[in-house]
Amino acid sequence: MTEKTQFTSQSALAQGAPLSHVHPDNEKESLIPPVYNSTTYLRDEDNQYRSGRVYSRADNPTYRAPESLLMELEQAADARLFSSGMAAATAVFLALKPGDEVIAPTIMYWALRNWLHTFGQDMGLKVRFVDTHKPGHVEQALNDRPARLVWLETPGNPLWTVSDIAAITEACQQHGAMLAVDSTVATPLLTNPLTLGADIVMHSATKYLNGHSDVISGALACREDNAFWQRIVKLRAQNGCVPGPNDAAQLLRGMRTLFLRVRESCQSAQWLAEQLQHNKHIKQVLYPGLPDFDGHQVAVKQMQNGFGGMLSIRVNGGPEHAIRTAAKTHLWKRATSLGGVESLIEHRASIEGEGTPVPDDLLRLSVGIENAADLLHDLEQALAND
Ligand SMILES: *Cc1c(COP(=O)(O)O)cnc(C)c1O
Repeated sequence: MTEKTQFTSQSALAQGAPLSHVHPDNEKESLIPPVYNSTTYLRDEDNQYRSGRVYSRADNPTYRAPESLLMELEQAADARLFSSGMAAATAVFLALKPGDEVIAPTIMYWALRNWLHTFGQDMGLKVRFVDTHKPGHVEQALNDRPARLVWLETPGNPLWTVSDIAAITEACQQHGAMLAVDSTVATPLLTNPLTLGADIVMHSATKYLNGHSDVISGALACREDNAFWQRIVKLRAQNGCVPGPNDAAQLLRGMRTLFLRVRESCQSAQWLAEQLQHNKHIKQVLYPGLPDFDGHQVAVKQMQNGFGGMLSIRVNGGPEHAIRTAAKTHLWKRATSLGGVESLIEHRASIEGEGTPVPDDLLRLSVGIENAADLLHDLEQALAND
């Protein structure tokens, strides 16, 4: 990045320090950086663009603060905002070439799985879906046939499968594959994939980074600013998949409370998962923080400060009971998406549709920052009241 804004260190942020150390980057000494709504920038008299700014389809100074903060949080060499999480994720795949081999998880964000199945394959990518959360499966797949890129999502939607980033990094390095990780659910406060060896980390900034269900945005950050990264940067500029400057400013506002929101969501999710295990209407609670969860040991190694704010429950009585339960909650709002301050409940199979690997008795829960006891009580009455 040409200009860099200074922020508090990651540890200061992780301790909850507000981002009041954002360097005022304008001559007015404003505490909060200004929003640049301009689409275009003045050329110098001698026909140069010394400001480095030309046109806002490529970049906008308003992005600098949230991008620098993400770099700091992910210990990244560079970071870029995108117009959505999907725009960020697909930029990685669009930067590949026809014929390139890709390995992606069987359990992953459904819209991206769909995109890989359709547009990804149409553009000539050879996509293999592998149980990346099972030890050795990625290595086996790479042994079978090399790949250019391995994509992980951990914890993976909506079963919260945990993939071992460090182990998979090793396999990728041995086989010359790049590794990219969708870390939306982990947030930069629980896992830093780049420090574990991943090449690229992706976030749907729509979720925890913004945290208030009022901005669609995405981000990528890289461990090394290399040729592949520059290809992604160029692709963003030429495809114009950039957020509006006001959205970027609103995203920064959300990121300033990331630590507080994620800490609260993690604590409540852990407690709710433990409580719900004893509910007679529930046959399984899926949460990486539970000792008997399949990926718990890897999660303990890979996640710090908590196991995330997302859990799923499988209810007795099949899809009818699941849908009826979601219909009877008051505090939990029936909506898709995750990572906002308000708790959401969703019958996941209904939104994923035909061919989904998600069990039809599963409810996905995004734990917000409401009182945890109130959340439990609301869910208990909804589960019982049939
Ligand atoms: C929401 C989400 C995405 C897509 O992000 P958008 O901002 O909705 O485009 C990708 N991955 C995960 C894990 C998500 O939750």
